[in-house]
Amino acid sequence: MEKGKLYIIASPIGNLSDFTLRGIETLKSVDLILSEDTRETDKVLKKYEINIPQISYRDQNHEVVFPKIEASLENGLDLALISDSGTPLISDPGYKLVRDLIKKGFEVVSIPGPCAAISALASSGFPTDKFTFLGFLPKTSGDRSRLIKKYGDLDSTLILYESPFRIEKLLKEIQENLGERYVCLANEITKVHEKILRGNVSLLIGLVKGKHLKGEFVVLVGKEGFSI
Ligand code: SAM
Repeated sequence: MEKGKLYIIASPIGNLSDFTLRGIETLKSVDLILSEDTRETDKVLKKYEINIPQISYRDQNHEVVFPKIEASLENGLDLALISDSGTPLISDPGYKLVRDLIKKGFEVVSIPGPCAAISALASSGFPTDKFTFLGFLPKTSGDRSRLIKKYGDLDSTLILYESPFRIEKLLKEIQENLGERYVCLANEITKVHEKILRGNVSLLIGLVKGKHLKGEFVVLVGKEGFSI
């Protein structure tokens, strides 16, 4: 019997119309959906009238659900992995799953689509020839500073994910560790209130200082000497 495949399906990062046709068609065609959060995926399934069973897949339950996933693929079932938003595995669950399925000889197919880091980079005006994606920085301030210094000194645009509650703190850490760099804040990409702010880090600290920021943010740091 032919083995099933795992499809990695990118989903919208805000605007539901950004789902690709191939993403929707593939989601409709699989036997089981592995979702980061089944309630979030329910919204997408409802919009596109898709009625496929789901199970929860997160890094934390990988060991428990992997045998079931493996058995399903052995039995010829096709599976889809979908996260709450954007491209699975990019600061989202899925890496361990893809790694372990490849080790076992299964086929993994990526259905590309939205990714907040790439969208933000494309509209930032920052150099796109070389970029370094760090995702979310760790919690402890020593580790954060070490990473900002290590990667901020590369000849490359730096891309970070950050919660709205820590944007001011992150900007101050960038200033402390890298000096007066040019920064871009991409907020609520693809949504009604999408906003892109660009400027020297001290200017942006002034803009966000003490403000109750809302929505999701991608933070880009320009390489030394870059400005628009
Ligand atoms: N897998 C997703 C991707 O492909 O971009 C990222 C998931 S990660 C858990 C969520 C983070 O991505 C948010 O905290 C924010 O930094 C960034 N993000 C996601 N959607 C965004 C949006 N519409 N606007 C700005 N940033 C966004």
